[in-house]
Amino acid sequence: MDSRWSDADARDYVAQYQSVGEDLALRVYTSRLLGRERALVLHGGGNTSVKTRVTDLLGDKIDVLCVKGSGWDMADIEPPGLPAVRLDPLRRLEKLDRLSDEDMVNYLRGNLLDAAAPNPSVETLLHAFLPHKFVDHTHADAVLALTDRHDGAKICEEVFEGRLGLVPYVMPGFALAKLCAEIYAKNPDVEGLVLLKHGLFTFGETAREAYERTIRAVTAAERRLAGGRAKKRALAALPNDIAQLHEVAPVLRGLVAEKRDGAEPRRQVLVFRNSPAVMGYVNGAELERYGRAGPTTPDHVIRTKPWPMILPAPREGELPAFREVARRGFTSYVEAYGAYFARHNKGDKKPLDSIPRVVLVPGLGMFGVGASAKDATIAADLAETAMGVIGAVETQAPFESITEQDIFDMEYWSLEQAKLGKAAEKRLARHVVAVTGGASGIGAATVKAFRSEGAEVAVLDIAGGAEAIRCDVTSSESVRDAFRQVVARYGGVDIVVSNAGRAFQGRIGDVSEAVLRESFEINFYGHQRVAQEAVAIMRAQGTGGALLFNVSKQAVNPGPDFGPYGLPKAATLALMRQYALDHGADGIRANAVNADRIRTGLLTNDMIAARAKARGVSEVDYMTGNLLGREVTAEDVARAFVELALARTTTAAVLTVDGGNIAAAPR
Ligand code: ZN
Repeated sequence: MDSRWSDADARDYVAQYQSVGEDLALRVYTSRLLGRERALVLHGGGNTSVKTRVTDLLGDKIDVLCVKGSGWDMADIEPPGLPAVRLDPLRRLEKLDRLSDEDMVNYLRGNLLDAAAPNPSVETLLHAFLPHKFVDHTHADAVLALTDRHDGAKICEEVFEGRLGLVPYVMPGFALAKLCAEIYAKNPDVEGLVLLKHGLFTFGETAREAYERTIRAVTAAERRLAGGRAKKRALAALPNDIAQLHEVAPVLRGLVAEKRDGAEPRRQVLVFRNSPAVMGYVNGAELERYGRAGPTTPDHVIRTKPWPMILPAPREGELPAFREVARRGFTSYVEAYGAYFARHNKGDKKPLDSIPRVVLVPGLGMFGVGASAKDATIAADLAETAMGVIGAVETQAPFESITEQDIFDMEYWSLEQAKLGKAAEKRLARHVVAVTGGASGIGAATVKAFRSEGAEVAVLDIAGGAEAIRCDVTSSESVRDAFRQVVARYGGVDIVVSNAGRAFQGRIGDVSEAVLRESFEINFYGHQRVAQEAVAIMRAQGTGGALLFNVSKQAVNPGPDFGPYGLPKAATLALMRQYALDHGADGIRANAVNADRIRTGLLTNDMIAARAKARGVSEVDYMTGNLLGREVTAEDVARAFVELALARTTTAAVLTVDGGNIAAAPR
């Protein structure tokens, strides 16, 4: 691994962060260098500190430890992410024999200079008890690959030749801080400490020295890994007709959704990975052994659970059998997790949920599981990194993690769980929503409205674009491909807003059959194609769902010369009712929004002029010609879709969003 230190960049940081002083500016600089290297830390892992001096309001100089605060990621840390804690009171704690977590957290908070600062890292005392000005802590992949094996200490002796002290595994907190200080005191010439099965600490008098000692240690570890005699991983004998992702993912997503009596299931979002490294890992003949051995570094466990759920390879055309095998696999996962809890709980912990966070499917790949795409991505990233580490260990020796009791103590450590936060979930968190015609007008407003309720929203649009999935609702293939992409991105779908449409005008006695058919193609068959694809996925999940159709008020109250648009919309209203009828037993609700006169790309200003003329009124009167006398917006329609999605016992309903129009009231 190369050092990315640059004198010019260091000077820039010092200039940019002049107000906080050179020490903290350089601390920010090298923390970011470490945080931006995926092979060193991921997603808020690791921590850094600098010992410096600040002046308080009275002009007194105070020695402080600026240490990474909880909730900050080193990759983009700022000075407030390194809160200052009074150093002398921290150092005096070293005299104690033991210290409870509660007392430690309270003491750290009590010694913060800024009362509003985040909690200092759980490893703060380790930083404080070491004498060096700069201390860097990472979970470097290459170092883990040397230590996550039975002879890790011996290998580290050989590789680091006494330049790093070796610390046996002890859970983070006060006891580890004391142990590290003792080991350092016996070898005060070392450049750092290897925490076996946990990670690396390096230190120095300058930011550069501490940082480059990390790089040097990692480079030495990498050389050793590359130089050893490599054993090739034996592959399992797998069928060559593996089922496809779009078939398997909804089955798994349904499986890991927690069913709750009388309430909506607690759904999960799935993100999928199948890089060559992932495939090599999940297809290994000994997956059951190394795959269940435990985390590569302890703080992964709150994101990945102690072990993944491992399922057999799913075969094409045998999905019902796979569904059954997967169900049994999930049941035994839940039982094994319950037994693990019972084995290690000393009586005062409450069990966490027993839903796997990582699912391995030989032949197919790996799924990260989480309450949101972000959480699922974190689980998948950590799992993918662990696969690299385990793969590197396994070329030379069997992978070995910390003991199961140590894994449990870490997973159920209140200070670790606190990192996950306990904010209340939004109303549509854990839901995957697809919106057709989502790039503009009512669709775009709907995408925004669902996102603000916490949903993961896939934008489907004929225009495609950077964020949107291309979807032409007049083509069955295009709709099918679009939903496959939604499944690949999130694991399935729960709510579909079938919104794409196009306006056609013409007096019905004069209109050509071609125009009428073209309108039916998008304004009726388009909805049918979308609903059909969505329902297939929802049924595979088995957790219900919601279909929401945008039917114009033309469906119930035809306007003059608007037949080519209103007729298919009327058919779509009937389509909605048919879905409600035929799929209510699947827990799938179907509802429609009957909106009128929304200024969008579909009802353009030119069309408004034409419609107003057809009715013999002014444009303003046309747009506000309703009982409330106010123009209705795309945002009003979007809110109606959201409320219908939340109306758990409403199906086959039409919600009118038109400012009030008695003639268009459904009856
Ligand atoms: Zn750590």
